[in-house]
Amino acid sequence: TMKRLFLLMLLLVGAAATEPVQSGEYFATERRQMVKDITEMATNTASVTGIGKFASLVLEAMEEVPRHEFVPREKISAAYKNRPLQIGHRQTISQPFIVALMTELLNLKGTDRVLEVGTGSGYQAAVLSLLAAQVYSIEIIPELGEAAQNNLRRLGYANVQTKIGDGYLGWPAHAPFDGIIVTAAPDHIPPALIDQLKPNGRMVIPVGGFTQDLLVLTKRADGTTISETIVPVRFVPLTRD
Ligand code: SAH
Repeated sequence: TMKRLFLLMLLLVGAAATEPVQSGEYFATERRQMVKDITEMATNTASVTGIGKFASLVLEAMEEVPRHEFVPREKISAAYKNRPLQIGHRQTISQPFIVALMTELLNLKGTDRVLEVGTGSGYQAAVLSLLAAQVYSIEIIPELGEAAQNNLRRLGYANVQTKIGDGYLGWPAHAPFDGIIVTAAPDHIPPALIDQLKPNGRMVIPVGGFTQDLLVLTKRADGTTISETIVPVRFVPLTRD
């Protein structure tokens, strides 16, 4: 029986070694590590961001969304590293820490309707969809927007609606929004986005040139706005048609 046990163990080792990296359990482990990494980064950057700890709902969403399904196949082994990755068309999927930070800053309620400008891979939209009632996301590059839409459907994110267009103009048909998140950087806050924000709504947006400031703009009940600078960031530029 010892010999049989030994053989069995060899078989198991063999099976583990040849197991494809696509195993769900493998990615769940990587995802837990990613959540640890961004939690640690939140602690280390608390003096700058003013946020030492992400809400547990935000962390749960980060732990649930399969980021490896949103990165190009050849980058899959880096999917859960806390860093941005190229997704083609000279665009990037943001660093997980930044996705969590922007999500946290939106301060979403489950009944909220959110607009995202810059669908990219669709990853940020998927994270938002777990914390809001409805997500509307606009992408200016047709190939990226279509790929993201197909991917979000395939993965079952039914409360995300996407369209191809210029997000500088917002999405008037679905306005106003409780929250707006912009994941490409303009050099000024697009006026249409302020118009399309509800009273007491929040907009999280990087504003600037090569590097930007991440801002949280809040619309008061009387329609006036205040904005707060959170942290320096680097996003791809917001482009126009
Ligand atoms: N949120 C994305 C990352 C976005 S990268 C994710 O989770 O993967 C920024 C994206 O904004 C790019 O895909 C870029 O094409 C898009 N973009 C740039 N200017 C835009 C505009 N005016 N309207 C809509 N999308 C725009």
